[in-house]
Amino acid sequence: MQVLKFGGSSVANAENIEKVVSIIQHKSTEEKVIVVVSALGGMTDLLLECGMLASQGDESYKDKLHVAEARHMETVKALVPITQQSRILSHVKTQCNELEDICNGIFLLKELSAATKDRIVSYGELLSSQILVARLSSIGLDAEWKDARNLITTNNNHTNATVNFAVSNELIAAYFSNTDHGVTVLPGFIAFDENRKTTTLGRGGSDYTAAIIAAAVDAQILEIWTDVSGMMTADPRLVPTAKAIPRISYQEAMELSHFGAKVIYPPTIQPVMKKEIPVWIKNTFAPTDEGTLIESNRSSNGKNIRGISSVNDIVLLSLEGSGMIGIPGFSKRLFEALAQERINVILITQGSSEHSICVGIDHQNAGPAKRAIDTAFSYEIETGKVEPLSIEAGLSIIALVGDNMKNHTGISGKMFGALGRNGVNVRAIAQGSSERNISTVISKNDVKKAINVLHEEFFETSYKQLHLFVTGVGNVGSKLLAQIKQQQTYLQEHLRLQIKVVSIANSKKMYFNDEGVDLSNWKEQLQQGEQMNTQQFVETIQSKNLRNAVFADVTANSEIAHSYDSLLQRSISIVACNKIACSSPYEYYRKLKDLAKEYNAQFFFETNVGAGLPVIGTLNDLLRSGDQINRIEAVLSGTLNYVFNNYDGSKTFAQVVQDAQDEGYTEPDPRLDLSGTDVMRKIMILAREAGEQLEMEDITNKSFMPPSCMQGSVDDFYAEMGKHETHFASLYNEAKVAGNKLKFVASYNNGKASVGLQQIPPQHDLYHLYGKDNVVLFYTNRYVEQPLVVKGAGAGAEVTASGVFADIIRAGR
Ligand code: ADP
Ligand code: ASP
Ligand code: MG
Repeated sequence: MQVLKFGGSSVANAENIEKVVSIIQHKSTEEKVIVVVSALGGMTDLLLECGMLASQGDESYKDKLHVAEARHMETVKALVPITQQSRILSHVKTQCNELEDICNGIFLLKELSAATKDRIVSYGELLSSQILVARLSSIGLDAEWKDARNLITTNNNHTNATVNFAVSNELIAAYFSNTDHGVTVLPGFIAFDENRKTTTLGRGGSDYTAAIIAAAVDAQILEIWTDVSGMMTADPRLVPTAKAIPRISYQEAMELSHFGAKVIYPPTIQPVMKKEIPVWIKNTFAPTDEGTLIESNRSSNGKNIRGISSVNDIVLLSLEGSGMIGIPGFSKRLFEALAQERINVILITQGSSEHSICVGIDHQNAGPAKRAIDTAFSYEIETGKVEPLSIEAGLSIIALVGDNMKNHTGISGKMFGALGRNGVNVRAIAQGSSERNISTVISKNDVKKAINVLHEEFFETSYKQLHLFVTGVGNVGSKLLAQIKQQQTYLQEHLRLQIKVVSIANSKKMYFNDEGVDLSNWKEQLQQGEQMNTQQFVETIQSKNLRNAVFADVTANSEIAHSYDSLLQRSISIVACNKIACSSPYEYYRKLKDLAKEYNAQFFFETNVGAGLPVIGTLNDLLRSGDQINRIEAVLSGTLNYVFNNYDGSKTFAQVVQDAQDEGYTEPDPRLDLSGTDVMRKIMILAREAGEQLEMEDITNKSFMPPSCMQGSVDDFYAEMGKHETHFASLYNEAKVAGNKLKFVASYNNGKASVGLQQIPPQHDLYHLYGKDNVVLFYTNRYVEQPLVVKGAGAGAEVTASGVFADIIRAGR
């Protein structure tokens, strides 16, 4: 014999029921089949809502009842030929009338007991099972209907009754040994108590009905047909990359379901495990998919972790006090108080100091638990030996489950490392001595992020997803988006990294899309965004609470640079092209570095110096390997280099500057380049990275610009430069006569930094520098006479974007 159970979505409507029928048809040619069904998908909730509304005196329960009736009627009409409809239609009608009478009664009494709830919801399963039988019979199958209530007996704990197995097993075995029908269809979820009053087995209980019957008849197999292709490595609604688990042990399946894998109702495993009946989870909508086989011979899949699940709406009770230390019996009294209130304990932790006991329970039980425990310990609370019970709400539990965990070290290290890097605060931890489960209590808001982080960490077949926020989509930013778009497949294949741009913004608009901005038409999407507001932008990013989050700042905006601290505090990594943060007063620079460390985030700004050239990275590698930076000589302004390489008197100086701006080499305000301020920022950043506590005021700047050029607007600046052409020409000619070239040089030498225009003779390292190139010479303990040289294009949108991109990848890994 085989037992098949079909869940609510499998029988949600006529179309789905046809799929169920064809599965049954296929099976029933082999041997006798027992079929257990849920109510039509969503029906149990709808019926409960009717009861609630009626009890609150809200007449709209009648409309809801009509919806329920109509759904059943329509289903019958679509499934059963007209000539055979009358019997089943009148059946449905009679039962819907009974249901209405009950609800009218509730409406009059304004009272809804647990027993009445059970009565109401039972119609869901009663109707669905009868409709299925009518359909099976109409196509000529030898199908009978049997009321499961006459076979399963429970106590009277309504809505969550306990099964009396001794009685039920006998009734079930006796019945099935005497029936000759090829297919028997039963309603799941419902039973009778000793007085033949309807009870239910708890939400999701149809799975349990099927397991009870399978065990009682010694079925060969129990098949649970649902809407997913098996038990998955995580809830597929939370983790889109979750995969079906081909095989799993009873114990693992039980742990996963207890910790929230809704695909099987937790008590289901117990009866079939005892009889070693395999359970096969299959997808009604993809019947050829393999599904999951739950059985006792666990076959290791080479993985230590089988799945990850979560339970929401947990509260943490903490009983604390110095009076508890070393005195036996505290925990006994605590658990007795909870047991008396029938409160189920989900998780327990106690520090070895015995100073506190922490217990996780369902949030609905928080009030009764507090009253019961404070009463049980009233004497100790009065005498100050323990504190009144403290309750923390808004929590969830996430659990890693796997039989093999006990044979492996480092799993919890990996788990907490991954959570920590993503700023998920762990409130409590429990590991069962079976080591089949490590549970942690975290904020409910962090659940989605945490489960995805852990899924990435432990199921390496999937890729890691990086969530990227990009602000500034001008010259460099738009190149960056193009590069990301182009490299997406490569990164996914070679680095197992998927970069999802979830927001873009410029000074006018900001646009968010959690599913990922379409990089082929981001401009149009940005147009549809809201008006840009930096504070709101940052707050939205924080509230999204996405894992592996990176904020890329490709602006030159000060307000944005001053929001890095609040982002880092949420473990969001920063990649800055913007130099403002690192060239702010030292205190802010230091703060950002410290926050990044504290919150396990990354703070990268390679493009602050030398655009895409590996200048800061090289400096840091030198320091990390134990070297010391003694002196730096550098040409750090792509703009100034371009200007002095191209200025030979044939064009005016102002014109050459204008060309540099047109090429996109200058800062948005070219005066920052011409004045040497930008070079000062860069040498200061290098000095700071080398360990020096330097401020802008500490840097000497021998500016070559006439002060009058630096006033007013950018237009004034160009006009004023025109008037000083002779000044620029004489600088050029003096150098030319001496056989030298003009370079704007930045130096750092044992704690002191300076910038200024210098004549560079041909034998000097800085002489051969063309176009917009930058060069940095590092003199260190190891590079004493011949410096370590980093040289190449030091400006330009494409190279800068690639530097930002490289930082993003580094931050993501
Ligand atoms: P049915 O109505 O068939 O009993 P349920 O809705 O009770 O189906 O359970 C199936 C659902 O369980 C799936 O649609 C899925 O969203 C959810 N689910 C949660 N965790 C898991 C998991 N680890 N594996 C598979 N499904 C899961
Ligand atoms: N219909 C019931 C519920 O929704 C039982 C089940 O579907 O398993 O909880
Ligand atoms: Mg279910």
